Amino acid sequence: MQALKQTDPEIYELIRQEERYELDTVRLIPSENYVSKAVLEASGSVLTNKYSEGYPARRYYEGQRYIDQLENLVIERAKNLFGAEHANVQPYSGSPANLAVYFALLKPGDKIMGMGLPHGGHLSHGWNISITGQFWKAVQYPVDRESRRLDYDAIREMARRERPRMIVAGATAYPRQIDFSIFGAIAREVGAFLLADIAHIAGLIIAGVHPDPVPHADVITTTAHKTLRGPRGAMILCRKEVADRIDRAVFPGLQGGPHNQTTAAIGVALKEASTPAFKEYGRQIVRNAAAMADELMRRGFDLVSGGTDNHLILIDLTNKNVPGKKAAKALERAGIVCNYNTVPYDTRKPFNPSGIRLGTPAVTSRGMGEEQMRQVAAWMDQVIRHVDDEAAIARVGEEVRAMCRDFTAPGILQGD
Ligand SMILES: *Cc1c(COP(=O)(O)O)cnc(C)c1O
Repeated sequence: MQALKQTDPEIYELIRQEERYELDTVRLIPSENYVSKAVLEASGSVLTNKYSEGYPARRYYEGQRYIDQLENLVIERAKNLFGAEHANVQPYSGSPANLAVYFALLKPGDKIMGMGLPHGGHLSHGWNISITGQFWKAVQYPVDRESRRLDYDAIREMARRERPRMIVAGATAYPRQIDFSIFGAIAREVGAFLLADIAHIAGLIIAGVHPDPVPHADVITTTAHKTLRGPRGAMILCRKEVADRIDRAVFPGLQGGPHNQTTAAIGVALKEASTPAFKEYGRQIVRNAAAMADELMRRGFDLVSGGTDNHLILIDLTNKNVPGKKAAKALERAGIVCNYNTVPYDTRKPFNPSGIRLGTPAVTSRGMGEEQMRQVAAWMDQVIRHVDDEAAIARVGEEVRAMCRDFTAPGILQGD
């Protein structure tokens, strides 16, 4: 980054510091990852110079000879990898992708039925402070109070009662598999569209370690930057029958020109995700989460739903008498980065809730395995037991940094 260093030493220095931080910490935010150097190069290319409103061969600007080939290539890769009939690779991010789907298929005031935010759903699934909960009428299904898992009988009953136009299946803080086939059957029964939002689990689906929504959903949205390990961006996959409506909703309905450098980087990530190595990566994400969950439970932690079968762990810290925010901040001081999170039926406020949320996609990208996951769980236990003891936290921090030195990170050249 010599030109950047010359032109803008302040920004250069901040990027370098962030790079060092990403290398020296155990990053457990389940929506984060490390992209490859190839993805970074595509993201930082001259494609950022181009305007190309419209779609391949249907543009409003001349000069698209290479951009059209690029977007067509990425669309084909997306369709092939997921087995979808149609793909739109232009959404700027996951939330605008969901907004485009509602805009495409619903009228203002139609009813959306999504998973409640405090139960693991996403803001863009109709939560009241989101535009999606204000322009459309939203009803929200919870997880079961006892099992803290989706209760499909209760969801079916709610759908029969509420008659939504759109059902959203997908989550941002749910540690279990989602049964898209049951959601599909419920949606057909009540005459609703089914949107499967696989932002968190796209990489697991490709790896074959999570059930596939493609046979069951009318539309699928995903971010590119979570388990899929691509740039910040999103895709919409759908059936042919709704393809035109989806495309028109993205452009010109909601967005202007696509971010071509992102499109290219998504293409690179899709190519990487089509390899056997990526399938093994997905399997290891799940094995790592299982090992970490097992070690945490052995140490008396209360895991929401009693464990995990995906990449994500939600801990209810009530029995440890440490609020989630205090725990997350202490862990960060020890170099273990996670986020505080509400747990289902939380009695505390969202800005200072009872839980923390962990995930293994980023650490797995560094080649860490079950042994390291058990070690990290042991460190987390120490920090939370000594949450007011800065010396103890600093000692854990030393060990965390020492371990991180043994693992390179994709996209970050050590000593570069
Ligand atoms: C992350 C996420 C999104 C939103 O993605 P952004 O790119 O942050 O807008 C949407 N849905 C789910 C389920 C997510 O986890």
